Amino acid sequence: MQTFASGYNIDYLSLMNTEKTCLDCGTVIHGRADKKFCNDLCRNNYNNQLNSESYNMVRNINNILKRNRRILEELNPTGKTKTTTAKMIAKGFNFKYLTNKYDTQNGKTYHFCYEYGYLPLEGDEVLLVKREEKAE
Ligand SMILES: [Zn+2]
Repeated sequence: MQTFASGYNIDYLSLMNTEKTCLDCGTVIHGRADKKFCNDLCRNNYNNQLNSESYNMVRNINNILKRNRRILEELNPTGKTKTTTAKMIAKGFNFKYLTNKYDTQNGKTYHFCYEYGYLPLEGDEVLLVKREEKAE
C-alpha cells in the first residue's frame, strides 16, 4: 500500500471521490479538496465577474425590492392603511418587482414585497397590508 505524507493523502482521496471543477473555467481541479480555482488567473477572473453586468443586475433588483419594501413600510406604519399609486410612485416605488403574490378566494390579488403588501383598489387607491412573514 502506498503511503503519503500527511495532507497529501487527504488530497488524493478527495480526488478519487469527487471531481472538483474550477469555479471560473470549469476545468477539473487536481489538488487540495478546498481548492476552488486552477490558478490565480481564474481566481481573479471569477472575482472580477462579481462586478460584472449579470451580478450587477441581481444586485440592482435586490436593491429595488429593498426600496419597495422600505416605501411600503414608510407608507404603512400601522400595518393596514390606504394610500395612492401616485404617492407610491412619488417615493420611487417600482411596480414591476415584488417577491410574491397572494390570491384571495374572492379573486383579488395582493402583491407582496416581503411582509408588506398592497392591493390596488378603485381608481388610484391602494390598500396596504402587512402580514407575519413566514417563508413557504
Ligand atoms: Zn480555472
